[in-house]
Amino acid sequence: MNQDLAHRAAEAARILRESRYVVSLVGAGISAESGIPTFRGPAGLWTRTGQPGNDQYQRFLADPGAWWRERRAALASGAYWSWERAIPNPAHCALAELEDMGVMRHVITQNVDNLHQEAGTRSISEFHGNRFKMRCIDCNRRWARAEFDTLSDALPTCPDCGGLVKSDTVMFGEPVPEDAIKRSLEEAEQADCCVVIGTSAKVYPAAKVPLIVLATGGRLIEVNLVETPLSNHCAVVLRAPAGEAMPAIVAALRGAGGSD
Ligand SMILES: [Zn+2]
Repeated sequence: MNQDLAHRAAEAARILRESRYVVSLVGAGISAESGIPTFRGPAGLWTRTGQPGNDQYQRFLADPGAWWRERRAALASGAYWSWERAIPNPAHCALAELEDMGVMRHVITQNVDNLHQEAGTRSISEFHGNRFKMRCIDCNRRWARAEFDTLSDALPTCPDCGGLVKSDTVMFGEPVPEDAIKRSLEEAEQADCCVVIGTSAKVYPAAKVPLIVLATGGRLIEVNLVETPLSNHCAVVLRAPAGEAMPAIVAALRGAGGSD
C-alpha cells in the first residue's frame, strides 16, 4: 500500500473511532469492482440494449400483464442470469466487518445487486431496490424473487393488500420506495459520520444523506477514484479503489496500521 493511502486510512480510522454513530452511503463504484456492468458508457448495458424509457414505470402500471410476460420470456432465455455470478469484493467485506466491529450502524446503498448482504451486512437500506426481490407497490411488502419466478400466474398480486407486484428494482419513472427513504433519513439524522463510497450523490434521495450529516455537524469520509461535489466538504478523502481503501481503514482500526 502506498504511504499516502495508509496515512489517509489511518486518519479515517481516527475519525471513525471518535464518532458515535456511523453510516455509509454507497454507489455504483463499489459494484463496478465486482464486475457488475455499468448502465452508461461504451460497455454499458444500455449502450448495448437501449436505455429503458423514462416512462418505464408508467408503462408497467398501464399494462402490468405485458411486463410479466416480457419478464417470463427473459427468464426463459437466461437473460437475467449474467450478474448472478458477481461476488462481493474486499470493500463489501470491509463494510460487513465494520458492522461486526460495532463501528458501522447502517449502510444506505444505491445498488441492487445484493452484494452487501452476501458479504454479511445486515443493517441496510436500498434506495433502488434489490434485484433478487419482488415488491408490492402498495404496501411495500417484499419477497424473494424465486417465489415468483416459478409461478405460472400471469399477474400475481399481493396476498396482504391485493396490490400489484413487480420487481423490487426501481424502474425509470418510479419513486424510490417510501420505507427506504424514511429509514435512510432517520439513520442519517442520528449519524455524526458518513462514509461515502463510489458515489457522487448528486440525485435525491441519496444527495440528502451526506447533507443531513454535515448540517448536524457530522463529518464525511469519501472513498472515490474521482473528485465529486462532496470532496471539498470531506474530513478525509481516499482516492483509491474501494476494494483497497476500505480494507485499509479496517486494518488501521484494528491497529495493524496497514503495513506495506
Ligand atoms: Zn401489498
